Amino acid sequence: MKIQAIRGMNDILPDAMPMWHYLETQLRAVLDNFGYSEIRFPIVEKTELFKRSIGEVTDIVGKEMYTFLDNEKNSLTLRPEGTACCVRAAAEHELLHHKSQPLVQKLWYMGQMFRHERPQKGRYRQFYQLGVEAFGLPGPDIDAELILMTMHFWRRLGLVEQLTLHLNSLGTLDERQNYRGILVEYLEAHREQLDEDSLKRLTTNPLRVLDSKNPKMQTMIAQAPSLLEHLGAETLEHFQHLQALLDVAGINYEINPHLVRGLDYYSHTVFEWRTAQLGSQDTVCAGGRYDGLVEMLSGKASPAVGFAMGMERILLLLEQQELHVPRNTPDAYMIVVGQEAELAAMKLQEQIRTTSPDFALTVHCGGGSFKSQFKKADKSGARMAFILGDEEVKNEQVAIKYLREDKPQALVSNVELIKTLMI
Ligand code: ATP
Ligand code: MG
Repeated sequence: MKIQAIRGMNDILPDAMPMWHYLETQLRAVLDNFGYSEIRFPIVEKTELFKRSIGEVTDIVGKEMYTFLDNEKNSLTLRPEGTACCVRAAAEHELLHHKSQPLVQKLWYMGQMFRHERPQKGRYRQFYQLGVEAFGLPGPDIDAELILMTMHFWRRLGLVEQLTLHLNSLGTLDERQNYRGILVEYLEAHREQLDEDSLKRLTTNPLRVLDSKNPKMQTMIAQAPSLLEHLGAETLEHFQHLQALLDVAGINYEINPHLVRGLDYYSHTVFEWRTAQLGSQDTVCAGGRYDGLVEMLSGKASPAVGFAMGMERILLLLEQQELHVPRNTPDAYMIVVGQEAELAAMKLQEQIRTTSPDFALTVHCGGGSFKSQFKKADKSGARMAFILGDEEVKNEQVAIKYLREDKPQALVSNVELIKTLMI
């Protein structure tokens, strides 16, 4: 029996790589320009980290985590998201406080996340996220900065038209708890309209009912009391200030009182960028403020805000744009025919790679006729073929054939070739 990959975990093949590199390069450029620093942390953490931070009754912790016991019977989990790991790592290495005072840190990470979900287009069991987290800043200015950053991602990637920003405020824990009571009362009164999932959430996480995609429940949800009407003055001030900042930057948004996010740790600002082009996998980037999490995990408080972007979903959008990303091609392909030529090619390529380290040279391996090697040279996309046969080797020369231009073939000495490539 052939062994195959695990369902929902994708191999990313060489043909797909130019798009991935293009995406990563564009994202990194924006992150660098905004002054954010990369952090890397392990793929596996103690299960407790996610249980405590994301929340026991969330979808992620409740049913999506890859959890196992190691040989010493420690419960470990493949990270389902990066925020908890980032807080854990930054706090552990004292990046977040100086003598109990919060420090400002602007961090990002990119990598695999794991969730046991039903695989479908745009939803996988191993997927990649870019995550960005800003610590030590309580005001709406940093919320706005992160949203502005995402806007610049879309600008560079040509996706502005495809995406809509949804914005909401979840207020403080107290405000949410007060609203929770009001919402539960309303939902109880409409109990007969709730589906099985929502009936479960009614007792565990009633705010998530608002997030239901069940078309039969949409009218009932639309008429539910709005959290925004139950927020205190300070929360509203934060939220209005954020909107003023976004207005100044010309960023359009929709206030969506039903945007609740699936994780327990959010407070105040939450946002999602959604698209109409990926079916029910419609959120490509989501985030918000999580002021309580740092204290919960590290014992010392610090305000924080961040977001995570699903890389595969962005790539699906880029594919629909039919964006042409050039693949990596060599500058030259060296054709090597005969045993003498093999030795000469080794020597020559070593010299070229030493004197011109940036010259992209593919040397043919595995022998074969001139004809078959020319085919390979052409397919590689190389601009030139360097030809080494018995005759050339005897005279310490190389024949140069231009594969993409209408230029005559040339014969140059090895020394001359090395010199020209150095310029
Ligand atoms: P969804 O509602 O689509 O399940 P989520 O609320 O679980 O998303 P987050 O935990 O906020 O997602 O993760 C941030 C982003 O990561 C999502 O907006 C999405 O783009 C991406 N993402 C989440 N889960 C997956 C997955 N299983 N496969 C691919 N991308 C994902
Ligand atoms: Mg999910």
